[in-house]
Amino acid sequence: MDCIFCKIVAGDIPSTKVYEDDTVLAFRDINPQAPTHILVIPKEHIANGAADITADNAAVVGHIFEIIAKLAKEEGLSDFRVVTNNGEGAGQTVPHLHFHLLGGRTLGVEMG
Ligand code: 5GP
Ligand code: ZN
Repeated sequence: MDCIFCKIVAGDIPSTKVYEDDTVLAFRDINPQAPTHILVIPKEHIANGAADITADNAAVVGHIFEIIAKLAKEEGLSDFRVVTNNGEGAGQTVPHLHFHLLGGRTLGVEMG
């Protein structure tokens, strides 16, 4: 499958991994927008994004948020933001569900 994140999961594209288990992978964003910018993804190719979360695949999303809380602690972040972009118009460039964990600087109050 021609998906950058599936290739990262498979190890075909290198990444700086910060967490991995059977269902979830977290790695540092290649173009960080903040001192901490980690991508947390299901290993399963959930295409395209948040719009495709269903009763059948939602369990991993809860697990992803557990991992985000753990990573935020490890990064020393009390203040942080979690973002998922759905659709090109919202800034999505990779059509494999992923959550951005951003922190380590003052984050703007504007959401959009
Ligand atoms: P999106 O724009 O879809 O919400 O987020 C995709 C993110 O993936 C972007 O922040 C981009 O910098 C990151 N990204 C794209 N390709 C790679 C890659 O090959 N390695 C890593 N570590 N991050 C990537
Ligand atoms: Zn994928």
